[in-house]
Amino acid sequence: MLTPEKIEEIKKELMALPPEEQQKKLQEVLANLTAEEREQLVGKQECPFCLMSQGKIPVKTVYEDDSIMGILDIHPANQGHVLLFPKEHAALMAQVADETLGHLFIVANKIASAIFEITGAEGTNVVVSNGQVAGQTAPHFMVNIIPRKQGDKVSVGWQPCEVKEDEQDKIANAIRDKVGSLGKKKVVKKDPSKFDKEEKRIP
Ligand SMILES: [Zn+2]
Repeated sequence: MLTPEKIEEIKKELMALPPEEQQKKLQEVLANLTAEEREQLVGKQECPFCLMSQGKIPVKTVYEDDSIMGILDIHPANQGHVLLFPKEHAALMAQVADETLGHLFIVANKIASAIFEITGAEGTNVVVSNGQVAGQTAPHFMVNIIPRKQGDKVSVGWQPCEVKEDEQDKIANAIRDKVGSLGKKKVVKKDPSKFDKEEKRIP
């Protein structure tokens, strides 16, 4: 939580800047706050990603259409780190319309291939942090697309935990029952020769 003194200090710092630099600074400040602190500072309606999609905060856009937007992260894990998000506000992935979400992941795949080639990466991470406990720091759902190289300082990992066989069966059944069948669209195969360059990504 921010103290009233801290809020005052941030506001003073912003006001001291020329107007064109204020938004940029605000974006930097907001990126380092928790969702709660952000709300304290700018109020509930002022989601920075909604402001970005409305063109009210300057960003380095890499993709934009009617429903989604991709920008460079101002605090990239590696150069070429892209944030892709729906323009309409959604805090979590479950709140995004299926059509938008499907479209967003197709575009995420294209951006991942593009940054793989452009940056000379050896792999990419496509990451969703859904909820604060999962490491979500923004109030707006997004997909992180991060180019990866051997020996870089990025960490997206976990230690495996022990789960008993019968517990595994139980959870598998529960998930199957809950999700059910969502049907299957006709599979259109992609030309495998297009992926020659990406072969080294496959372990
Ligand atoms: Zn938003």
